[in-house]
Amino acid sequence: MDFSKSVDLFERAQRSMPGGVNSPVRAFRSVGGTPVFIKSAKGAHLFDEDDNQFIDYINSWGPMILGHAYEPVVKAIQEKAGDSTSFGTPTELEIEMAELIKSMSPNVDLIRMVSSGTEACMSAIRLARGYTGRNKFIKFEGCYHGHADCFLVKAGSGVATLNIQTVPGVTAGVAKDTLTAPYNNLASVEKLIEENKGEIAAVILEPVVGNMGCVPPQEGFLKGLRKLCNEENIILIFDEVMTGFRLAAGGAQKYFGIDADLVTYGKVIGGGLPVGAFGGKKEIMEHIAPLGNVYQAGTLSGNPIAMIAGHTMLKELKNNPSIYTELDQKGARLEKTLNDILAAKNIPHRINRVGSMISIFFTNEEVINFETACTTDIKTFNKFFHHMLDEGIYLPPSGYESWFISNALSAQDIQQTLDAVEKFRL
Ligand code: PMP
Repeated sequence: MDFSKSVDLFERAQRSMPGGVNSPVRAFRSVGGTPVFIKSAKGAHLFDEDDNQFIDYINSWGPMILGHAYEPVVKAIQEKAGDSTSFGTPTELEIEMAELIKSMSPNVDLIRMVSSGTEACMSAIRLARGYTGRNKFIKFEGCYHGHADCFLVKAGSGVATLNIQTVPGVTAGVAKDTLTAPYNNLASVEKLIEENKGEIAAVILEPVVGNMGCVPPQEGFLKGLRKLCNEENIILIFDEVMTGFRLAAGGAQKYFGIDADLVTYGKVIGGGLPVGAFGGKKEIMEHIAPLGNVYQAGTLSGNPIAMIAGHTMLKELKNNPSIYTELDQKGARLEKTLNDILAAKNIPHRINRVGSMISIFFTNEEVINFETACTTDIKTFNKFFHHMLDEGIYLPPSGYESWFISNALSAQDIQQTLDAVEKFRL
């Protein structure tokens, strides 16, 4: 495959942007080679500056559940843009968006829009602290909740990909209030709560982790956390930036039947535009300004273009529940055949999947947390990544990221993906 235009663009990009990118994982630092510069996308396919075509398994890291350039979303954005792109005043559309999310998400009495997943999680932690009057919170090793200082402790995603142990600029004072536990390990959460009695404001987690590759919660883990939080009046925050509206219309809360106190959403609810939100029980959300003194604000929060894009997409998801069955069937086909092909080749592997989130770890160990995720053979992943890219399959450029399936992915796309895996040699 010819990537010469991407090579030139990457050289040019590095002269004016750190690492040539605006977000680290895009830089291909861990997989090596030159990042592919994408020009456009339609449905399940990406087109790069060299006019190569790829089947997309990133889908903008989650939001493109219905595929790229989904007609109703594009049309809604075009129509709305003519009314101006931002007012900084309340709009009826924001109410419609809030009402729609409330109608789909359990335990969301009130919701506040922001412009990214980072903002949503950062604000949810501030709210939990403000509400409980406690400073500490528990997060899980390998989970990523955005780049706010307090989350950059044993974080997943790019922090794991680049193997950054401590992030310079995050002060020890901030980091000391972030307690970490291994994912799927209730006993260690219990121990942290015991050792920090009455000091823990919140437990935040990805109910299915996407940021150390895909790691599902084990039976009883979410339920156990709910129970521990109830016992100690700790706020349970589900970070549904990836899982919200992707696993089910009601997100992971609905999928697993577990209630969270606060939920955060991100990219998915903007249909690919810069959006996030946090919401939850009235009693807690009422502490946000202007009702309460937990201050949180944003000039572009509830931006009309982002709202119309998100509203249009969420409405489609709400009105077509069969989308989730179809996504699951596509994921199941990939999972089963990938397993068969790699097993026949005697390549050590583990495939984790929940619905349309899936990833391959090149290891013999069951992957249940960050430690076991790290047993994946990164050299094999990198080779696999480049093999697939050359075959026209665009995977996330890191062994520590989940792949995302869109419902635009056709049986033929899946077959092409499997054919490419068939050709892989260690
Ligand atoms: N939480 C989770 C679970 C995420 O996956 C991400 C981003 N991938 C974030 C929070 C941060 O979102 P953003 O990049 O929009 O700030």
